[in-house]
Amino acid sequence: MEEIIRFAEEAATSGRILSKNEIVALLALPDEQYEELGSAARRVSTAKTGNRAYLWAAIGVDFAPCAMNCAFCSLGEEWGLTKRQEKFTEEEIIRLVHGFNAAGVRWIVLRTTEYYDLKDLAALAQKIRGRVHGPYELGLNVGEFDLETAKMLKRSGIDFIYHSLRLGEGRDTHFDPQERLSTLEAVKNSPLDLVYLVEPIGPEHSNEEIADIILSAIHYGAKVSGAMARVPVKGTPLGNIPQLTDRRLAQITAVTRLAGGNSTLDICSHPPTQEAVRSGANVLVVETGSIPRDGSYAEADWNGFTPQDARRMFEENGFRMCQGPE
Ligand code: SF4
Repeated sequence: MEEIIRFAEEAATSGRILSKNEIVALLALPDEQYEELGSAARRVSTAKTGNRAYLWAAIGVDFAPCAMNCAFCSLGEEWGLTKRQEKFTEEEIIRLVHGFNAAGVRWIVLRTTEYYDLKDLAALAQKIRGRVHGPYELGLNVGEFDLETAKMLKRSGIDFIYHSLRLGEGRDTHFDPQERLSTLEAVKNSPLDLVYLVEPIGPEHSNEEIADIILSAIHYGAKVSGAMARVPVKGTPLGNIPQLTDRRLAQITAVTRLAGGNSTLDICSHPPTQEAVRSGANVLVVETGSIPRDGSYAEADWNGFTPQDARRMFEENGFRMCQGPE
């Protein structure tokens, strides 16, 4: 076996976090070592999770042009791709949460554009909690906020936040990276859990850039990490750069599995692929509503990928889909 893969598997098994150089070496492995790396990550996955797998559901609440104009996002106002506006009503959101809970989803996240009112979302979370009972965890993927707001969200029934310092932050986005880090710090210092994937990855990103974000997710205490590909959206500034291959996304997913020691036990890969699950991903995503990846407003499951498809994909690869940690 390639020495760096053996070394990384032993480190992950004993709970040691890899250094940046070690992560870069794994990311730089040539295609011939792909199967070996994926198998090592899959073994670590069994050791860390007992082959328990989970589903994540994202509800894109508002379909509207967003003034932040991230270079990869179909909702960016300047690209002119989002012409009409749509927004789920509270009743529609409650019905969707109910359906995802019944389908065995563990993490249900409400995703909005940057300036959606957080007090409205907190009030909605309270209503959801009052109406939909079950083992699911409720989260938000929203804009920037401070520690006081994080505590307020927790009191309203929010369990976790999806947030990240994205690849190319400040270059492909108009965000000050420091602002994104301040929100991550607020989540870290609050009772909320953090979910932080390495994203949106394309062939334009170096192994060093990817390694920095993997380590950032570990630093901020992400409970779930993993890898998300940038889906090229025609008409956005990055729309002509191709998407990563499924094998490359699976390789990066495998590295996130091996890099985090005991800190991130659950690893997600998006969009969902057999390759990634074979390489140790135990979290998959279903999406509905506003989708920043392709300019669509999905009335039902995005790309036709349903909770049942996820369950099947997990089972085909030796995982058991569960709704809670125990
Ligand atoms: S990624 Fe988020 S902040 Fe950036 S343009 Fe899209 S909705 Fe706005």
